[in-house]
Amino acid sequence: KQINPLKDSYVIASDSTFAPFEFQNSDGEYQGIDVDLMIRIAELQGFNINFKFIGFSSAVQAVESGQADGMIAGMTITKEREKAFDFSDPYFKSGIQLAVKKGNDTIKSYEDLKGKTVGAKIGTESADFLEANKDKYGYSIKYLDTTDALYSALEIGEIVAMMDDYPVIGYGIAQNQPLATPIPREEGGSYGFAVKKGKNPELIEMFNEGLKELKRTGEYDEIVGTYIKDGS
Ligand code: GLN
Repeated sequence: KQINPLKDSYVIASDSTFAPFEFQNSDGEYQGIDVDLMIRIAELQGFNINFKFIGFSSAVQAVESGQADGMIAGMTITKEREKAFDFSDPYFKSGIQLAVKKGNDTIKSYEDLKGKTVGAKIGTESADFLEANKDKYGYSIKYLDTTDALYSALEIGEIVAMMDDYPVIGYGIAQNQPLATPIPREEGGSYGFAVKKGKNPELIEMFNEGLKELKRTGEYDEIVGTYIKDGS
């Protein structure tokens, strides 16, 4: 079904780096599952987009303040966020997981984090999870602005562990980043495209229609398969 766009162009906010969902390739161009899906959906539904890769919490704020029309940023659909956002149909099943430096054998459970510093990207589901379990396990939290900063903090030992979405950690490991995941992942939610609650309803409709079409034709699987091999 074709939906009529109501704007000449829609500003779509995204994360600055969240591979394999959005990241710059060696030519400095953004690509990834979110980027490719959004571009194809806009083509299929005949609307124009202007991507802004501004970081996760900045994207949330941009949509809330009306500076962006929508966001696609590996954003988990949660009850809390549904108070402020309308979400598309879920387009990717995810969840969160703890990662340590490869070769660190001292962390085998959350209890082993006692007295240590654990990192997460500000404003994320991982940050919420760490905050909610902080007193139970006795670690402290360091919040970082970007995924790059999070992974560097682990690399230089500023934090002993970090929490992030498992497809992102899995992609890092597949790209030979020296990471290990000693604790099973947490049951997680799915990613959705989001608009400010009550705003740009046609954008959600166009996203859902386009997504349905990409799934029907197999192009959705092709896009995901470009970045994620054998489910990791
Ligand atoms: N899925 C996580 C969340 O929604 C992380 C998103 C991100 O870092 N881009 O909070």
